[in-house]
Amino acid sequence: MSLRERLAGLTAVFRQSGPLEPGRGRATGIVAFSLGILAVLAVLAFHFPQYLTTPELRRQYDPAILREVLLFGMVVAGGLAIANLVRGRNRRLNGMALGLIALAAAMGGHRVPVGDFPDNTPYLGLDWFILDLLGSSLVFIAIEKLIPLRRDQPVFRPGWQTDFTHFIVNHLLVGLALLVVNFAIHRLLGWAVWEPLRAAVGGLPFVPQLLLLLLVADLVQYWTHRAYHEVPFLWRFHAVHHSAQHMDWMVGSRLHLFELVTTRVAILGVLHVLGFAKEAMDAYIVIVGFHAVFNHANVRLPEFFNRAPLKYLLVTPDFHHWHHSSEREAIDRNYAAHFAFLDHLFGTAVKSDRRFPGTYGVLGDYMPEGFVRQQLFPFTWKG
Ligand SMILES: [Zn+2]
Ligand SMILES: [Zn+2]
Repeated sequence: MSLRERLAGLTAVFRQSGPLEPGRGRATGIVAFSLGILAVLAVLAFHFPQYLTTPELRRQYDPAILREVLLFGMVVAGGLAIANLVRGRNRRLNGMALGLIALAAAMGGHRVPVGDFPDNTPYLGLDWFILDLLGSSLVFIAIEKLIPLRRDQPVFRPGWQTDFTHFIVNHLLVGLALLVVNFAIHRLLGWAVWEPLRAAVGGLPFVPQLLLLLLVADLVQYWTHRAYHEVPFLWRFHAVHHSAQHMDWMVGSRLHLFELVTTRVAILGVLHVLGFAKEAMDAYIVIVGFHAVFNHANVRLPEFFNRAPLKYLLVTPDFHHWHHSSEREAIDRNYAAHFAFLDHLFGTAVKSDRRFPGTYGVLGDYMPEGFVRQQLFPFTWKG
């Protein structure tokens, strides 16, 4: 087999989409292969933490636990790959998975020592990518399999590669995004800070403070989001997010980088000026991280969520799926990310007797597939 054929075989798995047939070792092979890649990347992050881990994150977690997670992942991946190989299933994929695990082990595995290292080097958020991919795929794929909206929609549905590339880049560039956001907030918004107000807001008890924070964040999100729809120049960027034709958790990652940064600057800037306490901010980051992804998921919540008062209170996948619909009654509707009542208040809520829309995407379907083409789209579109 030539090198070219080998490479084609190696990447073939990423060019496919569609359901996985059970009993052929594909699903477990893909899990083993993905864990194998993540294990190699994780070992690299242990070798070069100053360049491959996120300072804000590594202050939070305990490396000893991550070593255990790495070892566990390697054992699971190795076990799956060996079991499939023994039964003669999908030899190439499982062979590659085993090769990756062997490589991770040869590079030191979970035992790579970590010494002192400087804290202010430029870095890629590889740790954030690995941990969020592991956590999110476990949680969201489980929810999507438990309470699916479209039962026949596979995990590897058409276009998944584009969303996954958005996911990878958004996570690796977390450092750059944080840098831009922090710079913008502290340099540009200093004039707006009024200490007595900050002290009052930051001094509120945790629960009311968090509710107020969510409300403020969603108000800012509502109006920036609405501007992204109603200002033609901004729509060029936001159309990327709306180009998804199949909805699942990964669509949450499909965002133009310009939009990602500007929306964060707007929301975090206002929260900073108002002086919310660190505990409330940390809780918000976790909530928005879950909620914004969950709203896109291929799930059908129990009927209970589709009735008053919850229907008018919270944004659910029902509500946000309509936002992504290409049907006439849904265009420029349902902007909120947390509180559905904002759209009812401002007159932009979808009023349909159907629970979910039938079609998704942008009218005219003009967005190209692929991460790079989508990043270039706003500058090249002649629409
Ligand atoms: Zn939108
Ligand atoms: Zn969305």
